[in-house]
Amino acid sequence: MSEQKCDVVIVGAGFAGLYLLHRLRGLGFSTRVFETGSGVGGTWYWNRYPGARCDVESMQYSYSFSEELEQEWWWPEKFSAQPDILAYANHVADRFDLRRDIDFDTTVTSAHFDEGKRRWAMETATGEQISARFCIMATGCISTAQTPDFEGLSNYKGATYHTGNWPHDGVDFTGQRIAVIGTGSSGIQAIPVLAEQADHVTVFQRTPNYSLPTQNQPMTAEYAQSWKDNYPALREEQRHTGKGSIRDLNDESALAVSAEDRDAMYTKRWAVGGTGFLSAYNDLIFSREANETAAEFVRNQIRATVRDPQVAERLVAKDYPIGAKRICVDSGYFETYNRDNVALVDISEAPIERITDSGLVVQDQSFDFDAIVFATGFDAMTGTLFKIDIQGRAGAELRTKWDAGPRTYLGLMCESFPNMFMITGPGSPSVLSNMIVSIEQHVDLVTDTLVHMRDRNLVVMEPTLEAEDDWVEEVNAAAYKTVYPAAASWYMGANIPGKPRIFMPYIGGVGVYRKICEKMVADGYKGFRFESDANAAAAE
Ligand code: NAP
Repeated sequence: MSEQKCDVVIVGAGFAGLYLLHRLRGLGFSTRVFETGSGVGGTWYWNRYPGARCDVESMQYSYSFSEELEQEWWWPEKFSAQPDILAYANHVADRFDLRRDIDFDTTVTSAHFDEGKRRWAMETATGEQISARFCIMATGCISTAQTPDFEGLSNYKGATYHTGNWPHDGVDFTGQRIAVIGTGSSGIQAIPVLAEQADHVTVFQRTPNYSLPTQNQPMTAEYAQSWKDNYPALREEQRHTGKGSIRDLNDESALAVSAEDRDAMYTKRWAVGGTGFLSAYNDLIFSREANETAAEFVRNQIRATVRDPQVAERLVAKDYPIGAKRICVDSGYFETYNRDNVALVDISEAPIERITDSGLVVQDQSFDFDAIVFATGFDAMTGTLFKIDIQGRAGAELRTKWDAGPRTYLGLMCESFPNMFMITGPGSPSVLSNMIVSIEQHVDLVTDTLVHMRDRNLVVMEPTLEAEDDWVEEVNAAAYKTVYPAAASWYMGANIPGKPRIFMPYIGGVGVYRKICEKMVADGYKGFRFESDANAAAAE
């Protein structure tokens, strides 16, 4: 196959890839997108497990770049279910005629920077070779599903599923006895729906989780219209919040008010539903003592909901602060344990020993199942990038560079890997934010940067090692001002055996981060170095 050439290759056709393509095309850059899936939507394409739903309100979890799109799209529910978000992604792809530049069912396997040509040489699993000035990784933060390496797994004769890679035609569990392993956001959303369908569900829980009720409801025309009428101002407000969502942060300390006032505040926010609960006070993520007041409120909600006190106590998280592992949001999760057909097995002390041909074994006790659902999470933030053989200057491997944890400047680029951008990469607010807000900010920044370079005949851009070192330090320092590092979370890489324990996203806040990026640009792209076209022309 002959080598194709273009200005930009985008890896991934999720929300980042779609918007990138739209913008780059409008700016006159020749662009190709490669996508492993057969359709657009990224995380919402793969995560089709029953109950999958976004925990950011629909009116806020949507693109802001097109006023027409904002006005014409109607969400059916306050918090959207996966099929509605996927339908939206498909609508965007059609409305902006994006599909013609996307190669579906095509996985990028390698990306090598050719220092002579100052271009990225990329290869796909289908054998295509493509040379691009810029390579943009729009690969998503939570896109490599992780099934633990359980002994005996290959001997299991029943069906197995992973929430992060769910069959597109759905699964009918009617009449079946099933196991669910994992109680993170995915498990907590799936379990209530699975319990309604299957004959019996046994949940294997390694760590109990805090979860807040969604209090989801159908979208009302009035509520949707109130956003549509004020979108420009509300979107601008979103961009300067801590998490990319308008959440009514109460700017006082939990410790400055009485226990009665706190209880009233938590009760009110619990009734409203969603993650706004954690904005009840301004120090819940900074002070363990303040955090404990919210944690205890949630524990008591669980105790009041689950009828069997022993089961309730097993479901209550005690060893880490609320919110330090990604907070879960559910629809009837704890109530599910009052059903006769649901059992909870605590594997915190004695792990799953092995999988057998008919089920699994925990502490000499055998369980038989028709199917096992793995809700065991992802190799987050770095896993998908590591699946690609990425080599920068002088054959430097990304995997080696990030041996002790990801190192980036602003979560956008890294030293030795010129002209390779990451959308919502490690070191940016990314997974701690409303992803669409962060995606739009990065896409706008990257595409503006490409125009800046084109206008000045600049062909290479790379952060300095010093800027990268400083940012890595800043990301780490910001994390350790909070309670987050106190939990063994996937933010810290703790869910993957052998993964370095580094807090990966930037926790300083979406608004603060945006200002840092704006200042970097205003200071002449401080921390980056550029090369001009003059000495590149001969090499091409
Ligand atoms: P997760 O949060 O990493 O949860 C994985 C679960 O599997 C945990 O309970 C974990 O236990 C358990 N587990 C992992 N390995 C295990 C093993 N070897 N043995 C037993 N249990 C094991 O993954 P997730 O639930 O898929 O969620 C990942 C992220 O996706 C979320 O945090 C969120 O950012 C995103 N998400 C969002 C939504 C939403 O918007 N509502 C929904 C789903 C997912 P430990 O806790 O002990 O490690």
